[in-house]
Amino acid sequence: MKIKTAEFVVSNSKVDQCPNSTLPEYAFIGRSNVGKSSLINMLTGRKSLAKTSAKPGKTQLINHFLINKNWHLVDLPGYGYAQVSKSTKKVFQKFITAYFENRKQMVCAFVLIDSRHKPQPIDMEFMEWMGENGIPFCIIFTKADKLKEKALHKNIENYKAEMLEIWEEMPEYFITSASAGLGKDEVLDYIDGINDQ
Ligand code: GDP
Repeated sequence: MKIKTAEFVVSNSKVDQCPNSTLPEYAFIGRSNVGKSSLINMLTGRKSLAKTSAKPGKTQLINHFLINKNWHLVDLPGYGYAQVSKSTKKVFQKFITAYFENRKQMVCAFVLIDSRHKPQPIDMEFMEWMGENGIPFCIIFTKADKLKEKALHKNIENYKAEMLEIWEEMPEYFITSASAGLGKDEVLDYIDGINDQ
């Protein structure tokens, strides 16, 4: 898929205020600093469509972008800020679960995972929750350029092994680097393939 147009639509702090549209939407979510904004900008070919490197604790917003006038890319808030209080975390969890439970247009969520790290409980718990609730998701490994080929594949294999303790098969996954433009076609073609069904 070639991205011809990518437009910011709206930011919301409440799920019920999200666009009243039947267009399919694809959500991007992950720990703060995982490289989500950089990835969205890489995928859309726009330098600053999504704002990079916002400070932890920034307002938690759901951002909708209209792509090629026929689907929405949804930038969900980053989770896992070490600095926020437990009560803030709870509010955030509610906010995210409300999005996934209520947004019928949501076709697939891309869960971003930093390819440099071992499986983290917060990500595993999140994906387990997605699985239990029947929410379709894929994994996007980010920042692949930061590792040598061998180390990267070792990390991915470790991840797979841990995932297979929970699931019968590994969810669809993509290896990406926003800096190197890696994985762009694969992710966009995957979305295209679903939209064409
Ligand atoms: P977000 O908080 O998940 O939106 O993460 P950002 O996109 O703001 O990225 C966090 C930091 O990681 C920034 O310093 C980025 O420059 C860096 N970063 C993001 N993606 C990549 C990547 O693919 N490769 C490298 N080397 N750095 C990246």
